[in-house]
Amino acid sequence: MTAAADRYSDLVATLRENALFASCGNLLNWDEQTYMPHKGAAHRAEQLALLAGLSHERATDPRLGEVLAALEATGAGRADDESAQGSVVREARRAYDRAVKLPRRLVEEMSRTATLSQQAWIEARKKQDFPAFRPWLEKVVALKREEAAAVAPSGGVLYDALLDEYEPGASAAEIAEVFAGLRRELVPLVSAIRDSGRSPDASLLTRNYPVAAQRKFCVAAAEAIGFDFESGRLDEAAHPFCNGIGPGDCRMTTRYDAAHFPGAFFGTLHEAGHGIYEQGLDAAGFGTAPGTYCSLGIHESQSRLWENFVGRSQAFWTHFYPQAQVAFPEALTGVPLAGFHAAINDVRPSWIRVESDEVTYNLHIMLRFELEQALISGDLAPAELPGAWNGAFQRDFGMTPANDALGCLQDIHWSMGLLGYFPTYTLGNLCAAQLFESADRELGGLSEQFSRGEFRPLKAWLNETIHRRGRQYSPSRLIELVTSRPLSAEALLRHLRNRFAPLYGLAQS
Ligand code: ZN
Repeated sequence: MTAAADRYSDLVATLRENALFASCGNLLNWDEQTYMPHKGAAHRAEQLALLAGLSHERATDPRLGEVLAALEATGAGRADDESAQGSVVREARRAYDRAVKLPRRLVEEMSRTATLSQQAWIEARKKQDFPAFRPWLEKVVALKREEAAAVAPSGGVLYDALLDEYEPGASAAEIAEVFAGLRRELVPLVSAIRDSGRSPDASLLTRNYPVAAQRKFCVAAAEAIGFDFESGRLDEAAHPFCNGIGPGDCRMTTRYDAAHFPGAFFGTLHEAGHGIYEQGLDAAGFGTAPGTYCSLGIHESQSRLWENFVGRSQAFWTHFYPQAQVAFPEALTGVPLAGFHAAINDVRPSWIRVESDEVTYNLHIMLRFELEQALISGDLAPAELPGAWNGAFQRDFGMTPANDALGCLQDIHWSMGLLGYFPTYTLGNLCAAQLFESADRELGGLSEQFSRGEFRPLKAWLNETIHRRGRQYSPSRLIELVTSRPLSAEALLRHLRNRFAPLYGLAQS
């Protein structure tokens, strides 16, 4: 072997080992949110902080920096290098440069604070008590501002430095422009739906749906779209998520409510979409760019694609509805498919993001995007968050939350230090729309396939075009490569008009 080949395998071995180490923390995180007893939080915070510190030490090992420099001297890993090996070097450099700018103390403190603050948030939300959470939010925001200042290039936007960790190469300014175009069309669409005078009977979704039957139905649907239960699990958690521990082990969660069908069902499809992505990553590339998910926006495109583009379509239920009527006879006997389909696509302004419909969902994200930028820039003090939230909510939705649990305390993200994360949800919707159009064109007639219960061709297409490529390309390049155009709001707006105009009797312009 040449010296360069030697160095490359040395780099891959190190990255693999670092990822193995980090995946131990993922398992602890999963346990924290599923089975850990409440009183275990303080000990878990210490465990995770120690792991975060040790992980950081490995990620900033000067020897890793030397190997990278030697490989780069041979021309590998430039910013535009999209070769399989080059992308490994490129992404390793990105991660290394970010890590070395962060002191270990800050990394450990952020990890410890995230665990404890999350526990404080759970209590505060239960009691609708923002003042109890405020000191934690202040601490989290201060730590994230410190992190952003440490990693941002001089003169750079602080928020972008946080966003870059989740969505490589993205900037708040670019995202804001795409979002503005989306908002311009969404607001009149929401009004047109409201003024249509049509309102589906959504109460049929809150009849009796026994939890045991829901569990079985959720597993069957996740299996049908391609989630592999021999390489994954479905458990319960208060705040559903999917955690790819590593090859062959993907943990997803949902929550059941016997009086609310859509929560667990669409939640499961959503998390299964994330899980299918994790399971489709190249196992041999674990720890390196080709075996790592591309970005959170791309990750979310996979979950939203299965949840909404597939799971809320007429064709999906042409196949599944007869099974649903057997599984939930008390709720669905005598309810026609059209009534059920209209109910799961009910559009109306609501307080809670995760329960909102496809049309208003993105307005929830834009509101958070706006507020978290202000928190990071310092324009908004954490103490002023409830007022700012309620003001923005009134502006966008025409109503003011009665309490903070329905307002600024509803999401877990900020308590965990996930700032710069929210816009990736709407990016995910935009990507999903564009990918779905391309898949439909290339595979031909997805609707007919779904109505026959055939979901594997779409899964195989996603495996091929998205999953197996991992992080070899940047998210924007990947979308352009697969769909032959840059990301825009057009495909999503087309999808929303095509789906909701017939349901609400709107003229299709
Ligand atoms: Zn998601």
